[in-house]
Amino acid sequence: ATPTALMVGTARSAKMGVLIKNGEVLEEVSDIDTVVFDKTGTITVGKPQVTDVVGDQNKVLTIAASLENNSEHPLATAVVKKANENNISLANVKNFAAIEGKGVKANYGDQEAFVGSERLLEDISISREMKDQAAKLQKEAKTVVYVGLGKEIIGLIAIQDVPKPSSKAAIAELKKRGLKTVMLTGDNENVAQAISEEIGIDQVIAGVLPTEKAAEIKKLQNSGRTVAFVGDGINDAPALSTANVGIAMGSGTDIAIESGGIVLVQNDLMGVVRALDISKKTFNRIK
Ligand code: ADP
Ligand code: MG
Repeated sequence: ATPTALMVGTARSAKMGVLIKNGEVLEEVSDIDTVVFDKTGTITVGKPQVTDVVGDQNKVLTIAASLENNSEHPLATAVVKKANENNISLANVKNFAAIEGKGVKANYGDQEAFVGSERLLEDISISREMKDQAAKLQKEAKTVVYVGLGKEIIGLIAIQDVPKPSSKAAIAELKKRGLKTVMLTGDNENVAQAISEEIGIDQVIAGVLPTEKAAEIKKLQNSGRTVAFVGDGINDAPALSTANVGIAMGSGTDIAIESGGIVLVQNDLMGVVRALDISKKTFNRIK
């Protein structure tokens, strides 16, 4: 009777948009006490919009969008879209380089230009005034990227990615089930905190490079937690396979979907609640 119950369970779950890869996954789900979420595209819609430009708007957007035109990052798409809306014509840049989890650099005319987080800046100093402006925008849940030319920071661009409509309710449901919720992101601590407070997430792990995400999952496991990780990106694949249960968004990259033990057909966090509930129910029936 066991395999039949399993198949019935997974057929029913498939109808609810939850694809479960195998019986082992079902067993692991019953032990989960912590659910960790990627931010961009998982908790948030993943379609960020430029909200503020600090500095000479035309110059800042021209340089930033000329660089970002070569990147596929969601933040890059937002910057290029804003430049297009403002009818700004873009320049060709040379020696473009994307620095994973930090930003982009290229030669703009005869100078090096860059767009990215504070961690990209290295030896370039930020004025007190710029820092204060950045902190203010970050506390409004906006991601801030610095735009620089040569050794000088010429401005800031604030970019907002709002939570999906159901994220808050889904987090509340998970907490009702006694689960701890955690956000894991490469974004700045202030931004991560602001979004987490908005939707009720318990803990924030911010400023994490893509290559460090799996190690953060390991740390939680070493502290005694049994972890489900929910993500969608190429960068999320190692964290998805390290977690006790990896849950991939169906709208995500192929590699994320391959790495997940559970795949959510709909691109929304209520699927996580449904996945955990149905896995437990099915497992209880077959054990
Ligand atoms: P997440 O964890 O939200 O997926 P990433 O690891 O991709 O974030 O990026 C972390 C941070 O690095 C971003 O918040 C941003 O500050 C910076 N960054 C990464 N790629 C770019 C880019 N193409 N342009 C500007 N900033 C970038
Ligand atoms: Mg991401």
